[in-house]
Amino acid sequence: MDYVAEVDFAVVGVGTMGSMALWQLSELAPEGTSILGIEQFGRLHTRGSYSGESRLFRVALKEGGDFIEFAQRARELWLDLNEKSGRDVFLPIGALSIGPSDYQTMMSTQKVIEEFDLDHSYLDSEELRERFPQFEVAKQDIGIYDPQGGGIRPEVAVASATELALDNGAKLWTHTKVLGIDRLADGGAVLRTSRGSVLAHNLILTLGSWAGELIPEAKDVVRVKPIPLTWFMPRTPELFSPENLPIFLYDKPQPDGSSFHIYGAPSIDGYTVKFSTNAFFVDTVDHPDQVPSTVREPALNAFSQRVAEVIPDFFPDVARLSMHHDGFTEDGHAIIDVLPEQSLTMAVGMSGTGMKFAPYFGRLAATLALSKDPSRRPEFFSVATHRP
Ligand SMILES: Cc1cc2nc3c(=O)[nH]c(=O)nc-3n(C[C@H](O)[C@H](O)[C@H](O)COP(=O)(O)OP(=O)(O)OC[C@H]3O[C@@H](n4cnc5c(N)ncnc54)[C@H](O)[C@@H]3O)c2cc1C
Repeated sequence: MDYVAEVDFAVVGVGTMGSMALWQLSELAPEGTSILGIEQFGRLHTRGSYSGESRLFRVALKEGGDFIEFAQRARELWLDLNEKSGRDVFLPIGALSIGPSDYQTMMSTQKVIEEFDLDHSYLDSEELRERFPQFEVAKQDIGIYDPQGGGIRPEVAVASATELALDNGAKLWTHTKVLGIDRLADGGAVLRTSRGSVLAHNLILTLGSWAGELIPEAKDVVRVKPIPLTWFMPRTPELFSPENLPIFLYDKPQPDGSSFHIYGAPSIDGYTVKFSTNAFFVDTVDHPDQVPSTVREPALNAFSQRVAEVIPDFFPDVARLSMHHDGFTEDGHAIIDVLPEQSLTMAVGMSGTGMKFAPYFGRLAATLALSKDPSRRPEFFSVATHRP
């Protein structure tokens, strides 16, 4: 068979995880290893899960357990990426959670802070009003400030990690779709691409919401969830600058017992503030092409009204909206695993939480691919625990 290329490692899908895996692989692999990234769209594009200007990063995560170490390791790598790229990929501006003191999320976060002895400060409602006058706060609300938190600029992250990988000698094919993967009996695979066939001795698959197209183990396991982002315009922009506002999460109990959960980042463009919710879409779709192009007007208006109640400084209408998606697993845990006999590693199903961990998960994928040792990942990331 004629191949247009033969490589030691191919990374298929150079978005968030792919760019990080490519970068980490290019640092960890022995000299002379050939590494090729293959991306169906451009080196940067707006069709995957990483567009939308900002992402939230926290170390004090209510999930606790292994996720605290993942976040701590990721933070070190974010700072490394800042330094090596010379760009502000990660903005170390802290993270603020606001909610009633007896609310489950707030209590779990406090428990994690104590268990892991994490840096923090707690604020009562008076202190919250004084330090963060942007928010309408009730008497029972408290604030948890995580100084290790911050914002991530996702497009800058993908561009920078890819650039470092290329500087280290990796190659990148953009506008090249992998159409099929023929796994070989003795490991590796033939990738049928829109440019011809590639023989890859080792594979890392970081396909995001497209995972089900090429990975049988991910079909019907990684489902595509639409996620909109909205931006509001404040009357007093300086209150919402990164100097005056950390990234934030806000929970407000509703009369029906539910919670109005919103999250956002300070103004990056100087005139709008990202302020969004996961509540618009609960159902998944089969493919990224089926993601709706917008949010229905009544739902958007109701959301805007509620947001304006929480942040009185906002004009009570959405100034900007964009639609996105991510690949979700049922239990919310990613699949990051290696099938050693096939020399095949995958990092998919990031379930709406992948950005904060991305450089560490990229490193984990690179380590799994190089070592072919599945014991280096926690069991809850395994293919076996994600069977349909
Ligand atoms: C709106 C929104 C807000 C979010 N907020 C946060 C947050 O605040 N904090 C946080 O930690 N996480 C957040 N996330 C989650 C995080 O952004 C995602 O988990 C992460 O970006 C997923 O990365 P990925 O590499 O799996 O997918 P992607 O970044 O989409 O990368 C997949 C890549 O594979 C390519 N590809 C697919 N199929 C092929 C093929 N056949 N051939 C070649 N290339 C292919 C795609 O084009 C794409 O570039 C958010 C996600 C969304 C959508």
